Amino acid sequence: MCYLIESAAARAVKEELTAKEGALEGARNALVLGYQDPQAGAFVPASSVLLRTKMRTEKQEAVRRACYKGVRTIGPSVTPGLSEVVKMRNQLAKAQGFTSFYDMKCTQAEGFGEETLFGILDGLEERTRPLMEAARARVAAEKGAAALEPWNLGYALSGDVTAAQDPYFPFEDAVDAWARSFAALGIQYRGATMRLDLLDREGKYSNGFCHWPQVAYINGKGTFVPSQTNFTSLATPSAVGSGQSALETLMHEGGHAAHFANVLQPSPFFGQERAPTSVAYAETQSMFLDSLVGDAAWLARYALNREGQPMPWTLLEQGLRAKRPYAVLDLRAMLAVPYFERELYRLPDSELTAQRVAALADEVEMRIQGGLSPRPLLSVPHILADESSCYYHGYVLAEMAVWQTRAHMLHAYGRIVDEPRVGAALASVYWAPGNSQPFLGLVEALTGAPLSGNAWVTHLQEDLEAVVASEKAAYDVALRAGPARKAGQGADLNMRVLLVHGAQVVADSGAAGGANAEQRFALASDTFKAWVRARA
Ligand SMILES: [Zn+2]
Repeated sequence: MCYLIESAAARAVKEELTAKEGALEGARNALVLGYQDPQAGAFVPASSVLLRTKMRTEKQEAVRRACYKGVRTIGPSVTPGLSEVVKMRNQLAKAQGFTSFYDMKCTQAEGFGEETLFGILDGLEERTRPLMEAARARVAAEKGAAALEPWNLGYALSGDVTAAQDPYFPFEDAVDAWARSFAALGIQYRGATMRLDLLDREGKYSNGFCHWPQVAYINGKGTFVPSQTNFTSLATPSAVGSGQSALETLMHEGGHAAHFANVLQPSPFFGQERAPTSVAYAETQSMFLDSLVGDAAWLARYALNREGQPMPWTLLEQGLRAKRPYAVLDLRAMLAVPYFERELYRLPDSELTAQRVAALADEVEMRIQGGLSPRPLLSVPHILADESSCYYHGYVLAEMAVWQTRAHMLHAYGRIVDEPRVGAALASVYWAPGNSQPFLGLVEALTGAPLSGNAWVTHLQEDLEAVVASEKAAYDVALRAGPARKAGQGADLNMRVLLVHGAQVVADSGAAGGANAEQRFALASDTFKAWVRARA
């Protein structure tokens, strides 16, 4: 982000702000998180991730409650610094003519201001409010009113579907399933090289990531320069759920990679993740593609167990019934972040105190989520740092665009999974322009309508029995048709794939034998599968 700060006074404010932001970050990092063991009474150190996982999985309510209390200690550690930082961020933004810091960040990242943004979000908020209320009433009716307590909600909703479905997502088959389904969508990587380092190992950087040493572009001589992508994840193949999360990661990161492999612009500049390539624009691509893993049409074709049998309908139905009625609660949790930040940056300086900020967070949780949140707003890390503050709405806009794109394609082509026109449309409308065009314009160009929450709301409003019936019909059609490319048959994505483990190259489609790209990929994928199985 590049600020043009002209006056010396503004520069002084900026310097003081940077110091205060450092202190805020320091206060958050210095906090020792954990929970008070309700039986032994001892303090058990635990990260925020672990505390939230325990709230979903721990059987004893007293422990879950202690974990929630632990997460709530983040708030008091950040509110004094945050209230000061908010004042100064606003001061800087107002000096540059913006109504607030939120307005400035939104305008710089998205190309439109806070007012336009909330014009879009308000419609979604109003229309999903009754759905949120109905979902909470359903939880209370099915599992008792206590299930709505923030330390109980996640636990009450986390069934055992993940474990039951696990055998249908063998970890070693994830690369093959991703490549075959992308190829069947007509996705091409234009000669790209992709290096995948999927397994955890000692000393590996503890965060999955994806980066592009080279983005695609057309050079001064008119020659296309293909992209290079590296991505890593921290999978432990033996852990329950690891195959499904590997697959979702491949579909998601593979979506980002496909986007940046297909930018057809005269400079690598257009493939950089800078304005107007916003979070919303980038995530639309990856979230659209990973959304397919939830579709019966995809699961019936690609979710096969080690014997090659597809996931049975009963298991799929169990998952739908356990998750779909509560999907709106995820939307509301996402929406709470931008609403909190907007109101935070609208508080007059006289009200920017630690107590008021803490109270505001609770008020927004109650209003948007219907009760205190299992993930307290003040524990959301994005709200603190300059780069990540006031951008969370990007995920909401991306999800809106995903459902709008899906609805458009289902209407235009009758299907998405195994439909080659899907990849062609993504490549020509969403990907080729890179960041030469703004996000809202691209969504409208592909779907023929301005971005709205309509398609997402329609999806969430659909009656559960109607969803079960239509997914059953899609499942039956998919099972009869089978996948465009059978398991193990390989796929030609116009890409060289290296499967690596640190410095070790486990398999390389560029070096594999085989008469054509499809066979070379199949051989590399078989080598990788055998290597994973041998390690188990
Ligand atoms: Zn992403």
